[in-house]
Amino acid sequence: MAVINFTTKLSSENVFMPELPEVETIKNGLLDLSSAVIKDIIIRFPRLRYPLNREELMKMSGQKVKSVERRAKYLLLKLENGTLIIHLGMSGRITLYSGEAPQVQKHDHVDIQFDNYTLRYNDPRRFGCIVYTENPENSALLMKLGPEPFSSEFTPHYLKNKINNRKTPIKQLIMDNAIVVGVGNIYACESLFMTKISPLTLGSKLTLAQCKKLVTNIQTVLQNAINAGGSSLRDYKNANGDLGYFQTSHNVYGRTDQPCKVCSTPIKEVRLGQRNSFYCPECQK
Ligand SMILES: [Zn+2]
Repeated sequence: MAVINFTTKLSSENVFMPELPEVETIKNGLLDLSSAVIKDIIIRFPRLRYPLNREELMKMSGQKVKSVERRAKYLLLKLENGTLIIHLGMSGRITLYSGEAPQVQKHDHVDIQFDNYTLRYNDPRRFGCIVYTENPENSALLMKLGPEPFSSEFTPHYLKNKINNRKTPIKQLIMDNAIVVGVGNIYACESLFMTKISPLTLGSKLTLAQCKKLVTNIQTVLQNAINAGGSSLRDYKNANGDLGYFQTSHNVYGRTDQPCKVCSTPIKEVRLGQRNSFYCPECQK
């Protein structure tokens, strides 16, 4: 029986791309694994973004889960001697089954068997990663990450200092994981709209007062998405197996040429750092 299941409809233009709110939601769905003991690891297909290291992963066998955490878009299972780091990449999907898992489907690359659960990892595009390390503080995956958006480190002064000399559009700066983690494209567009700052404005032009509003609005936008269960999940079964659909109501994201909800000016789309950016040319300066 599926306890938590992220089902996605994949197509070229409709790709499920887990962002911080989705990963937070998945993490919350995995909290039942606290104090579960890993019994076995089954690797059917080892070629993800980094090849799976069977020998390293087998070191998890017999270890108890101490906690389930999230860092940026990484899921962390803290074990007695080390940490399992999972990233869902572009299309990774985790299903947690209580008891035995059902028959294996296409792209079910890895099973982690616990005493009472099976965590199954499915990833059609194989950009995800599953790494076990006994030194998470030295992990190249985690080392260079900036502060969490909800942490006490992410203050207006911190942001101002980081962007003060940057002649880069603010949209690209807030999406830079070395400055702050977890601000994906949707959330960057929406928080800049709320702050009335154009995505094209250079970082060096922002005042401390604007940084203050932007920090608050990034947190608000992400918290709203977490409360809604993550806005890029198409359909989602919560811990009780109830299917929920999350309606997304974006102000600017994906609304090219539609009227701004504040001033009715058509929303503009611009390409910035290989990402589509959406903004109101009237409200955002
Ligand atoms: Zn407007």
